[in-house]
Amino acid sequence: MSFTSPHLAALAPYTPGEQPAIDGLVKLNTNENPYPPSPRVLAAIEAAAHAGLQLYPDPESQVLRRALARHHGVAVEQVFVGNGSDEVLALAFDAFFRHGQPLLLPDVTYGFYRAVCALYGIVPRTVPVDEGLRIDLAAFEATAGEGVAGIVLPNPNAPTGIALPLSALERLARLHPQRVLLVDEAYVDFGASSAVALVERHDNLLVVQTASKSRALAGLRVGWAIGQPALVDALARVKNSFNAYPLDRLAQVGAVAAIEDQAYFERRRDAVVHCREGLLLQLEDLGFEVLPSQANFLFARHPAHDAARLALQLRERKVLVRHFAQPRIDQYLRISIGTPAQCERLLQVLAAIL
Ligand code: PMP
Repeated sequence: MSFTSPHLAALAPYTPGEQPAIDGLVKLNTNENPYPPSPRVLAAIEAAAHAGLQLYPDPESQVLRRALARHHGVAVEQVFVGNGSDEVLALAFDAFFRHGQPLLLPDVTYGFYRAVCALYGIVPRTVPVDEGLRIDLAAFEATAGEGVAGIVLPNPNAPTGIALPLSALERLARLHPQRVLLVDEAYVDFGASSAVALVERHDNLLVVQTASKSRALAGLRVGWAIGQPALVDALARVKNSFNAYPLDRLAQVGAVAAIEDQAYFERRRDAVVHCREGLLLQLEDLGFEVLPSQANFLFARHPAHDAARLALQLRERKVLVRHFAQPRIDQYLRISIGTPAQCERLLQVLAAIL
């Protein structure tokens, strides 16, 4: 006798990186932006907080979707928004991947995809990354003509930071014309090319982005998807069967302000990218092998030091990075790019440990 629905036993919930309240912590474990959001975001939220919180928000988030449509050069009917891109991903898996066939994923990728698969009874079919932890495009292409539920690829991949060229994504979209190719672009602004440019030509391509990383709004929970109107309609059907108001009033206005402040966005993005390039070289000087990253984090291993132990030693010295106790990547650390002062502190502490 159990109170829970039968499918709960099969769930595999995702464990997010920790958010500890420790004074003076250098927090480089969840790929947040080290800078605050644009001051315009705060002004917009403050104004909205004084006007109308007793009223429900616009369930269709029209002003935000218009701002995103302008930003991406698409029609408003091609934009879907949700409570963080995790929610957009979960709704998309429900809408597009429940065909009773396997869903193609890289074996080394964002762990949340498997959690959503378990929720919906979708069977993932993992395609191994190569020895350099690069997505094996030939192996994905070899699935052409096979019955699959769809394909999910983050670009850049997480937690490696390695980006794919758009030509490869376009080939994959063509090879499975009956199924959706979902490209998760959580980190695209830090150096990769966006597949939004391909949406017009491919009715099976869905591109998911977030305000959590390059727009410094992880705390506000805003994500979106860009695709042709039929895909956006499908997402809206699922959303309106689950939660008609996923974005509150403050999130809607805050995200609009962040999207519209392009100059602020570029300045902070450039600072993060500049810091990443410096940190990569300095980690190499300390003996680390570092993967080439187009994201706001680096994935690095030290040939002479166990990664789990290093993560623990860093934590004892108030520097938090992410370690995944998983096959193939358990000797790596994922290090989010901080401010120059935070990166400097990381390097000092690492030098003392090594
Ligand atoms: N996709 C990837 C690849 C991520 O790493 C993350 C952040 N953990 C997300 C999506 C979700 O981000 P959010 O829900 O904050 O938009």
